[in-house]
Amino acid sequence: MNACRTWSSLAAICLSVVLVSCDHNRTAVASNSNEATASATQPSAPLQSPVAQTVAAQSAGPVMHVDSARAWQYVKDILAFGPRWDGSKGQEKVGEYLHTRLKSDQVEDDSFVAETPAGKIPMRNIVAKFPGSKDGIIVMGSHIDTNYPLRKTSFAGANDGAATTALLLALGDQLRGKKLEGYSVWLAFFDGEESIPSARPGDLRWSDPDSLYGSRHLAQKWQQDGSNKKIKAFFLLDMIGDKDLNVQRDSNSTPWLEDLVLQASQRLGYQSYFFGFTTTISGDDHLPFKEFGVPVADIIDLDYGFNGAFHHSVEDTIDKISPKSLQVVGDVVLEAIRMVNAKP
Ligand SMILES: [Zn+2]
Repeated sequence: MNACRTWSSLAAICLSVVLVSCDHNRTAVASNSNEATASATQPSAPLQSPVAQTVAAQSAGPVMHVDSARAWQYVKDILAFGPRWDGSKGQEKVGEYLHTRLKSDQVEDDSFVAETPAGKIPMRNIVAKFPGSKDGIIVMGSHIDTNYPLRKTSFAGANDGAATTALLLALGDQLRGKKLEGYSVWLAFFDGEESIPSARPGDLRWSDPDSLYGSRHLAQKWQQDGSNKKIKAFFLLDMIGDKDLNVQRDSNSTPWLEDLVLQASQRLGYQSYFFGFTTTISGDDHLPFKEFGVPVADIIDLDYGFNGAFHHSVEDTIDKISPKSLQVVGDVVLEAIRMVNAKP
């Protein structure tokens, strides 16, 4: 995932700095500025736009909660496969594992061969569909691959890959075997999210054409078969296992859907984990769908470790993430689904 972000969080305000970062490695530039100094004496900016006031406050269907212990077990299972970069044995195994876990569900593979700077690489998106009673679809997505340039290292991708894949499975557990009162819910496990800039190990450049292979492929497919038109909301989960959870508001996501996510968090008393500052996510799996007019919300905590130190680092290990964070985000997404279902 690639980001260009502006911090206006309380932490940044206390330091009287504005941190701006515009590259994949997210080197931060700190500078004193009048704007930041002024902010230090004022309450933080309103966390929601006026649009939030018009978002439906109703919910439909029974309240659901994720089983965080099960989600945590899924994280461990996935990490046990080792690195899961595209073309690796671990990646193959995680695909088989997902099929095993989803064996009683309606599951479709979207297989293709990606043309990458490192050559042709077979990839496979996996989609599990849970039928609802209303005409329309809510999508929850996450990427299953781990960082390609770090494939020769011990990179585990506990947060960046495993945590959200596990959470999607745990969300599926709540949807299975029920007659869903609202829209159908589709879980989309994306392959090929990470950039493959070249075959050279350690080449960490992020390039838009050489990333998001899976989501770009599925977005095209769903555009052709008419699915995109039926999607009422698309929630992307990325890097939300962080023990120190602070989900950012993404200015590249659909404002009303971001407002709805915030409202869902407020209902559950989890608002302190959400939208303390704004990020512009310029490369993630929601964007190919946004290009086709799908309402999207990237639920992401890019602030992983001090100044993002654990992101795309061998430090991205299970001790940095927590079942509690999975539970918070999982429950908020489940509440958001109920709110989308109640929307006129
Ligand atoms: Zn990543």
